[in-house]
Amino acid sequence: MAIQSVFIVTDNYAVLPEFCAGAKNLADYVTAVVFGDEAAAKEHASCGADKIVFCPVSEGGAPEDYATPIAAMVKEQPKAIVMVNNSIRGRCLAGKLSVYLDTAVLGSVNELSVENDTISCRRVVYGGTAQRKESFTTPYGVITISSGIFDSPAEVSGNAEVLPIAGAPAEPIHRISRNEKKEGTVNLVAAKRIVDVGRGLAAKEDLEICRNLAKVLDAEVGCSRPVAENNKWMPKACYMGITGVQVKPELIVVLGLSGQVQHIGGINKSKVIVAINKDKAAPIFKNADFGLVGDMYKILPSLIEKLS
Ligand SMILES: Cc1cc2nc3c(=O)[nH]c(=O)nc-3n(C[C@H](O)[C@H](O)[C@H](O)COP(=O)(O)OP(=O)(O)OC[C@H]3O[C@@H](n4cnc5c(N)ncnc54)[C@H](O)[C@@H]3O)c2cc1C
Repeated sequence: MAIQSVFIVTDNYAVLPEFCAGAKNLADYVTAVVFGDEAAAKEHASCGADKIVFCPVSEGGAPEDYATPIAAMVKEQPKAIVMVNNSIRGRCLAGKLSVYLDTAVLGSVNELSVENDTISCRRVVYGGTAQRKESFTTPYGVITISSGIFDSPAEVSGNAEVLPIAGAPAEPIHRISRNEKKEGTVNLVAAKRIVDVGRGLAAKEDLEICRNLAKVLDAEVGCSRPVAENNKWMPKACYMGITGVQVKPELIVVLGLSGQVQHIGGINKSKVIVAINKDKAAPIFKNADFGLVGDMYKILPSLIEKLS
């Protein structure tokens, strides 16, 4: 294997088992870099990494302050890929790391493979209309990646060595205050079933009927980007697609959603896709395993009754 080392850098411990399992298929040695104290890092010692390096972010500090010591640690290897969690914080860190490692960032990679002793990365380009395959020409490469890309291991194993990062953070920014966001949380990536709501929904109150379907299916509720970003009817963390969450549940029921490529890119790894749309020419039907042409407002009450 030409790449001996993959560094996973994440501000979210929850992605570690999936990222470590994916990284182990690419490299011999996997180091996870996390942000928090030693106790939290030790709790995740069985995530599948060979080593966990923790960065104890100070009160008022930020993970990206550690870009310089993380880059210095990566440079101890002759060649490495740095896989950064695709969060707002992660993208900021990826940019800084690429500067200190004198390389580029490949953002939102959705497939990785080893070809001709090099790691090849695939990602969606041109607003979702094409896929591009790229590899780094430099010894180091930085990528951002979302959870849901690799298969999560059925159970975690291993006993990683846990060490503090060597070197001090830069801390150029001091946080003055922090206000908690009042949005609900949802774990779409881990969901086995999802009800996916599109702009066919006429009013925010009508989300109730979609939630009722989710209840009988024991599913989470997600949506298309305009439902979250334009209408603001659901938190932004709930929208799926190439710029949102990428999911692969066993079942996804897609309601009143046209099925544009940018949305499909986030749900097309689902095992079974069921679509309900009143327009029989809607592109979603090309991607669905089962389709119902009709008004969701008429179909849902009887569907919920049947499933209850
Ligand atoms: C760079 C870029 C990135 C993007 N990234 C994403 C992304 O990550 N995720 C994402 O979702 N979008 C993304 N978009 C937006 C995307 O292109 C679409 O605009 C969006 O997905 C459409 O959302 P929708 O299907 O809910 O709405 P619409 O396209 O408006 O579709 C609504 C559908 O509801 C149906 N309908 C209406 N009423 C009913 C009813 N009563 N019963 C049944 N069916 C009904 C209609 O027939 C229609 O098909 C992106 C766009 C760009 C340019």
